Amino acid sequence: MTTISRRWLAPLCALALLLANAYAAPLALVHANVVHPERDGPDAVDRDATVIIDGDRIREVGPAAETGLPKGARVIDVKGKWVIPGLIDSHVHFFQSGNLYTRPDAADFNAWMPYAKEVERNKKRLPATFKVWLASGVTSVVDIGGPFWNFEVRAAAERSPAAPRVHVAGPLISMVDRVKLDLGDPPIIKITSPEEARALVKRELARKPDYIKVWYIHREGDDFAKQEAIVRATAEEAHAAGVRLAVHATELDVAKSALRAGADYLVHSVEDAPIDDEFLALAKRNRIVYCPTLFVVMGYRYALSGTWKPTGDEKRLGDPRILAAMGDLAKIPKDKIPERVATLMAAPPEVKVSQVSLDNLRRVWDAGIPVAMGTDAGNIGTLHGPSVFREMALMTQAGLTPLQVLRSATVGGAMAMGMSADLGTIAPGRLADLAVLDADPLADVANLSQARYVIKGGKVYEPRALMRSIGAK
Ligand SMILES: [Zn+2]
Repeated sequence: MTTISRRWLAPLCALALLLANAYAAPLALVHANVVHPERDGPDAVDRDATVIIDGDRIREVGPAAETGLPKGARVIDVKGKWVIPGLIDSHVHFFQSGNLYTRPDAADFNAWMPYAKEVERNKKRLPATFKVWLASGVTSVVDIGGPFWNFEVRAAAERSPAAPRVHVAGPLISMVDRVKLDLGDPPIIKITSPEEARALVKRELARKPDYIKVWYIHREGDDFAKQEAIVRATAEEAHAAGVRLAVHATELDVAKSALRAGADYLVHSVEDAPIDDEFLALAKRNRIVYCPTLFVVMGYRYALSGTWKPTGDEKRLGDPRILAAMGDLAKIPKDKIPERVATLMAAPPEVKVSQVSLDNLRRVWDAGIPVAMGTDAGNIGTLHGPSVFREMALMTQAGLTPLQVLRSATVGGAMAMGMSADLGTIAPGRLADLAVLDADPLADVANLSQARYVIKGGKVYEPRALMRSIGAK
């Protein structure tokens, strides 16, 4: 027998792991506490269960004592751990990084950091951004609007050895301009007539979007009828191609107008007034999904007033390069800080979650309208990956139980992905997208950040290894 020299050992081990994942034997998670977020009460947890995964799908879930292991199965003993469906963030933006330089239309730091450089960096850093999502237990995300190169982001995720499933929308069909974001392939395009809207939707449909997105900004003096006609034309064009319409509409009147026009997905809370019966009736008629995005407004306020601080989860699971830049306000020369930011820094505002948004989340939930957890990650102060834990903690302040929050991040997310038959629950035939947690997520949503393993399409990842591979300590 020959001896393998040490210098060959490491590459051979890497090869063995590669082969194990590529030509995987069935995988068995044994002695698991399997969480079923679609169920209520004690039925929501199967104790001492076995989950058998074959290829990229779940083959069997049953009591450990009665579930036989397939021949040659790779067995992972997860005794004392909780297995949940992979988390889904139904509102993210890959063209934004979460740092100070990512939205010059909100805070223009071009004098210090050119926006073109920031966007270039975000493109190059995509493999790491994909990994922070997986490390946080997030196995699917919906990028709900960006430049046309968003479609390349989706393709890159599909090719990547370590990425969540990515669904995308292209450029936003918008009521207003955002010239500072236009580097030749703008994420936001101003539309002034139904005909223009239809033409842009057609251009996007050629790229097979998962959503068409409208940025419905209504300012005083704007003609509601004229704006609604644009949204309706957009909806008709999208629906004719079998694509759902997502709408940004943060005021009650605007949200109701969006619903009348045919919106399928409201990507933010209604934050200016209590949701009324008319809203609820329209939402039910359209069978919408509602995404509260509670943290994102707070993220901006913290970051632009110099009071943003990483949570423990963010220190562990955030992109180290983005984390390093989050404190940049302290080192940027005063004359290069935008006036608005200087004002906020001089008198930092009290940052707290919107009570109206919390009450509306509760109202929507109680009315039986599906809720999908989403962070709006990529916006200033809202990091890709671990910001889901900030968001889910805030959702409990609306009175949702940990089980209900988990339901929104799995079952609700699967609806936002348009993949309810494949994602969001742990059952035979479903895609094997799972997270294995060290602590009980139904006792405290904070435990959702304690993933030991993350499984996507049957492939097993370890968060710590993912983070080390992108430079985390
Ligand atoms: Zn957004």
